[in-house]
Amino acid sequence: MLVARKTKNSKKMDFGKLLKSKRDELLGQLKEWREDVRAERVTEDEVGQASWAQMEHLAFANLEQGQKTLGEVEAAIHRMDRGTYGVCESCEEPIPEVRLRALPWARYCVKCAERRRRN
Ligand SMILES: [Zn+2]
Repeated sequence: MLVARKTKNSKKMDFGKLLKSKRDELLGQLKEWREDVRAERVTEDEVGQASWAQMEHLAFANLEQGQKTLGEVEAAIHRMDRGTYGVCESCEEPIPEVRLRALPWARYCVKCAERRRRN
């Protein structure tokens, strides 16, 4: 069935587009978090200081995590440009699409990711 096949193909996940929109989203978020950190620094009173310490902690945790994810997303975009996207960096087997849907910037297949986590 030609029509059915065509529909199936058009439903295939466009990971390149997905990764690029995720990168843009992260860049926007990182910019916002940095602005939060700057804005909060202006507060001078003691209550402000206390909440600033909390905010700082949270903002930096967010920034750190966001930067890390951004690095992973950019590495995945780079792999896509080189044509190695979706291939496990450890065992060089293709990463199943179901895993890429859950984690589009996955470097490793589930088996290798788990082995690395244990080691
Ligand atoms: Zn692997």
